[in-house]
Amino acid sequence: MKVLIIGSGGRGHALAWKLAQSPRVTKVYSAPGNAGTARLGENVDIGVGDIPALAAFAKRENIRLTVVGPDDALAAGIVDIFESEGLRILGPRAEAARLESSKRFAKEFMRRHGIPTAESREFSDSLEAHAWCRSAKYPLVVKADGLALGKGVVVAENPLEAAMAIHRAMDLRVFGESGRRIVIEECLRGVECSIHALVDESGYCLFPDAKDHKRAFDGNRGPNTGGMGTVSPSGALDATLAERVKSEVLDRFVAGIKAENIGFRGMLFPGLMLTEDGPQVLEFNCRFGDPEAQVLLRRLRSDLIDLLEACVDNAVALQRPQWDDQAAVCVVLASGGYPGTYKKGNPIGGLEEAEKIADVVLFHAGTKQDGPRVVTNGGRVLGVSALGSDRVGARKAAYEAANRIHFDQMQRREDIGAP
Ligand code: AMP
Repeated sequence: MKVLIIGSGGRGHALAWKLAQSPRVTKVYSAPGNAGTARLGENVDIGVGDIPALAAFAKRENIRLTVVGPDDALAAGIVDIFESEGLRILGPRAEAARLESSKRFAKEFMRRHGIPTAESREFSDSLEAHAWCRSAKYPLVVKADGLALGKGVVVAENPLEAAMAIHRAMDLRVFGESGRRIVIEECLRGVECSIHALVDESGYCLFPDAKDHKRAFDGNRGPNTGGMGTVSPSGALDATLAERVKSEVLDRFVAGIKAENIGFRGMLFPGLMLTEDGPQVLEFNCRFGDPEAQVLLRRLRSDLIDLLEACVDNAVALQRPQWDDQAAVCVVLASGGYPGTYKKGNPIGGLEEAEKIADVVLFHAGTKQDGPRVVTNGGRVLGVSALGSDRVGARKAAYEAANRIHFDQMQRREDIGAP
């Protein structure tokens, strides 16, 4: 069968890499893809936002399954449109994708279904938000309601920082319409990790846990990014906590989507804070994480297409995938200046040398083929992933490979997967 992956980042390359290994998949298309996906199949020059053109392509090429990477395509209703054209696609419909694209919608859903999450208040008037924050307890967390590429969240230590965050989101509209409303919530203490589960009305198929490194700089300092690296397993989720996550988050989530008749068939990827009182949901994402996919798919031994198809067919709870016991680490190589402004078009060297290291796979993100050269084409440029018998080994291999890659103004964290 032919499959189409929508997206251009590292997650899309990881999906294409895994699906291309399936004996059932004859061809992997990526729209628009990057220099890495071009090597695994064929890139299609259609932007993520051009849904009618993507649907027309899927029809014309007889695509058996389309997998959606980016959240904005889901929020824009790509699944609804594909389904109305009789095309098979994995992902939540626009209504269900609001669980990610509106923090308020997600909070209300969690409250209705008893899913543990931080206490919060929503504001659509910035003066009210400013007034409330003057007498609030600190620290607290200010979040733009809508999608903001992982950058719309500020942990404010004092009223001044909260005022700045509200001003940027609501008055200056730094995140565009996503900041029209904000959610302000209590700051939770604990250890962060995330889980992934393919969810449909039959239930869910849980993937291993992972840990992201969201801040730009070592020691979790600097601005929030889309993610500078990941490790799986996270090391934080023991069997007891995993059982609580299943019963308090996933079981309640599935019961909730059924009770409210929300057509959710796709990947659910909640960010969690493991607090003294148990797991709490920080946010819902409704697609594979990026760069979480880059470690999870390295550990998946089973055929991904079987899992994805089962989810589209509402039978995912019956799936029992095999996972590699080894640890996986992914180190992101980013353009200097990311998540702010950065230069594109820098030639990348050392890719072949890096790939020679055992158990290393390079996932391209912001890259582009420019004649014979591969050049930088985005903020996050590459994900260097490695497997190892434990996290120390995986981390060593990933950094060894990363050391062989060079481009002008490369930026990375040195502490991905560090103890
Ligand atoms: P989110 O996009 O909602 O996952 O938030 C991005 C990051 O902000 C998370 O990975 C956490 O590090 C932090 N964060 C979000 N909400 C909270 C909270 N209620 N308490 C503490 N930290 C939070």
